[in-house]
Amino acid sequence: MRRENTKEIPLGKIKVGGKNPIWVEAMGRENPAKIRESIREIREAQEEGCEIFRLAVPDEESLFGLSQIKKQVDLPLIADVHFNLELGIKAAQLGIDAVRVNPGTAGNKEKLEELIKVLYDKNLALRIGANTGSLPLHYREKNRVEALFDSVEELISITEKNNFRNIILSAKSTDIEETIAIYDKLSRAFSYPLHVGLTEAGEGEEGIVKSSIALGIILREGIGNNIRVSLTAPDPVSETRVAWSILEALKLRSKGLEIISCPTCARRKGDVVALTRDFKQKVKERKIKIVGKVAIMGCEVNGPGEAREADWGLAFAPRGKALLFSRGERIKMVKQEEAEEELIRLITKEMEEKKP
Ligand code: SF4
Repeated sequence: MRRENTKEIPLGKIKVGGKNPIWVEAMGRENPAKIRESIREIREAQEEGCEIFRLAVPDEESLFGLSQIKKQVDLPLIADVHFNLELGIKAAQLGIDAVRVNPGTAGNKEKLEELIKVLYDKNLALRIGANTGSLPLHYREKNRVEALFDSVEELISITEKNNFRNIILSAKSTDIEETIAIYDKLSRAFSYPLHVGLTEAGEGEEGIVKSSIALGIILREGIGNNIRVSLTAPDPVSETRVAWSILEALKLRSKGLEIISCPTCARRKGDVVALTRDFKQKVKERKIKIVGKVAIMGCEVNGPGEAREADWGLAFAPRGKALLFSRGERIKMVKQEEAEEELIRLITKEMEEKKP
């Protein structure tokens, strides 16, 4: 089922599924028992655009931390539990917006039904999240895609028998092909919203490339209602940034300005790399929010032509100059050291004019 036809599931102040945006989720690195540190990383991720935050709840201490964190942050929280469903039950009793249960570590059916009852009574959500690293023992002999699917289906049948349907599904593999196949299968079989991700994608460029390929293909197929990029990184900020970049590249969401820049070559007349980095930072700091495309180009000969579709642009020119242009038209020549601020002025002027 395509994303817009899936069920809408309540998750704190938002809804997941149906025609709602594709939400960006990130996961905490800190133990929620470290309340201050957890809140700091949640806020940092939120600043980057994180909209759903998942926290591992390994013990009673972290459960107490979670209850305190919940009072101080305003985005939906998911408690992630393994083996000990009692912790999930308590998290739900505290009103944590959703509990994530892995079919491979869900434990006994009675406890699961107890959890479902609390979720039902409080109208909270259950995320059924399978992954290839922790498949239930009785499925391990099977093909991994079949095994992931069957393990998710088994949990769905228990929840549906208990008349509970606030479910979000995920089934992740470390392998791109398997991940694409399992999401295709889930989307055909169920109408629940899907949380999409590639598990243990890796560190740095490797993790970013693998996640972008897997998520890009799945999202492009019209599948997926929220995403998480699982990167080996010290904090949830980079995975949030990458998730947004994927969504923006596919034109599925927009945070505002799209910045394009040339790769530079021997014709460049200025430092495109430094200016682009600095410009991105200033856009963030000054909260420049306008929908449009900005181009930063290395030379005035090819630059404005190559970036013809940009709403605003800057192209370095000889003798320490830079050309400002807008929608294919030359605006003016400025000094290179003033070019960035001139470009920002050009954009913010239009932003002011568009204000109601
Ligand atoms: S805009 Fe100019 S400097 Fe940049 S890649 Fe094109 S030709 Fe090279």
